[in-house]
Amino acid sequence: MAAERATDTGVADPFAFPRLCRYFSERSPQPMVAVEGTTHVIRHVNSAFASLFGRDAATLVGRPFAEAVPEGAGNGCQALLDRVFHTGVPEELVEQEHRQVHPRPVYWSYNMWAILGADERPAGVMVQVTDITETALFRQQAVAMNESLLVSGTRQHELTNAAESHSVQLQADVQAREHFLAVMSHELRNPLNAMSAGLHLLQSDGQEPAAAEKTRDMMRRQLNQMVRLVDDLLDVSRIATGKLELRKEQVDLEAVLRDAVESSRPLIDGGGHELVVSLPPDPILLDADSTRLAQVFLNLLNNAAKYSEPGGCIRLSARRDGGEAVVSVRDTGIGIPAADLPRLFEAFVQVDAEWRRAQGGLGIGLSLVKEFVGLHGGRVEARSDGPGMGSEFVVHLPVAAEAAVELPVALAEKAGGSHRRILVVDDNRDAAETLAMMLEFMGHEARSAYDGEAGVAVAAEFRPELILMDLGMPKVNGYEAARRIRAEPWGRAPFLVALTGWGADEDRQRTADAGFDRHLVKPVDPAALTRMIAEMPTRSP
Ligand code: ADP
Repeated sequence: MAAERATDTGVADPFAFPRLCRYFSERSPQPMVAVEGTTHVIRHVNSAFASLFGRDAATLVGRPFAEAVPEGAGNGCQALLDRVFHTGVPEELVEQEHRQVHPRPVYWSYNMWAILGADERPAGVMVQVTDITETALFRQQAVAMNESLLVSGTRQHELTNAAESHSVQLQADVQAREHFLAVMSHELRNPLNAMSAGLHLLQSDGQEPAAAEKTRDMMRRQLNQMVRLVDDLLDVSRIATGKLELRKEQVDLEAVLRDAVESSRPLIDGGGHELVVSLPPDPILLDADSTRLAQVFLNLLNNAAKYSEPGGCIRLSARRDGGEAVVSVRDTGIGIPAADLPRLFEAFVQVDAEWRRAQGGLGIGLSLVKEFVGLHGGRVEARSDGPGMGSEFVVHLPVAAEAAVELPVALAEKAGGSHRRILVVDDNRDAAETLAMMLEFMGHEARSAYDGEAGVAVAAEFRPELILMDLGMPKVNGYEAARRIRAEPWGRAPFLVALTGWGADEDRQRTADAGFDRHLVKPVDPAALTRMIAEMPTRSP
């Protein structure tokens, strides 16, 4: 066809350069345009260029580039034309996205070079367009794939790290559990060994009464220690399962501290320590669970005694500071290294030293202190100037709102040592009889029954003022027995106390519904029992 045209126009040498040039441009599949002057007026377009923009070549020629093909002039192309025209330096513009040309984005590259005039200065610019859509899309996909590979690589790395740290944590947990079980077995075995030896001694003939009394004292101490350990463990478990509830009422801080001191006395005296207590003249009222709060100070006092060389001095002081009660337990003991202070309140943490370990304990006392104080809206901090410098634990608690609610009035006249009729119902005969014996020994009149049904029958005849009732019993359980008693005409009078072990918090509502007045946790603490008997109401039938 090119040859035909050459002949048509009657040109002698169809291979003359200007003519050949036209053929190159016309037949090239690459769109080309030649523009002139500063406004880049289109002087020539090839058919590839015209069809790229879907226009007729005649409508393009003679108009400025930006006006004739505004879609082609976008994306920096116009600026490049200006530059090449002014500098005369060829330039390339790679991968321009043209969304306005086609419904789908297309990508073009531009090559531009100056067309020099007679004075060797740029008279116009030659523009060559290359459609690189496919390459660009392919490249984009590759980049995206690469990125997603990178992301999945990073994710994989993260997952591997997480799995590793999880496994390290698991291993640490397993080790901690094993360590804990070892410590716990040791801690439980010690009092058991002592009690078993004590029992053996008591059973042997010819023991002096004074020696027997000493043995019994020792056994009592060991039993108390075991009960405390088990109670602490149960509390840890209750806290972990969110089942610990406080029974708050308005209490006098002094009474709480007195309770704690009384319970800690054997350990303080046993260590030959001096205890100095200083309390403010005015009572500080707290909205608190007195049992839990007493446990807090008991733990702190016991620790002060445990971690002091014999003959130390323990100071317990309380003061009011604005809306807070501040209680400090300070000792002259072995102190705490600064590095251990921050983690002291974590469960199962014990400062690692042989002497300390020899003091016994599971390393949960302080974690309970922190939990209980926290549940009361307070905080606790530990201070020590280091080993050998003693320690101080300071507890801050919010005081009760000023509009003081009446202090819980003792519901009835105090028993003041008077004797009461008491029924003990427990399917564990030994437990029932021992408790009944203990009550008799305290000066009360006690009977026992060994299942719920018998309990109701004995109560009907004996008319006790107090019934201590186990809950889990064969035939008729404690709940049902309580219900039956309350249904009797005489059944409103007895003060009904549930003897419970594990699960007291959840059972509280259930026992209240069944008609119980109170809970006591087994094994029954004689001091708590005496207090309860002294304070319980006398109700007429
Ligand atoms: P436990 O006494 O059963 O080990 P705690 O949680 O009560 O557990 O105490 C944790 C650790 O804190 C103890 O093992 C002991 O090392 C340290 N500690 C607690 N109280 C004192 C104190 N008053 N003086 C020195 N060290 C203490």
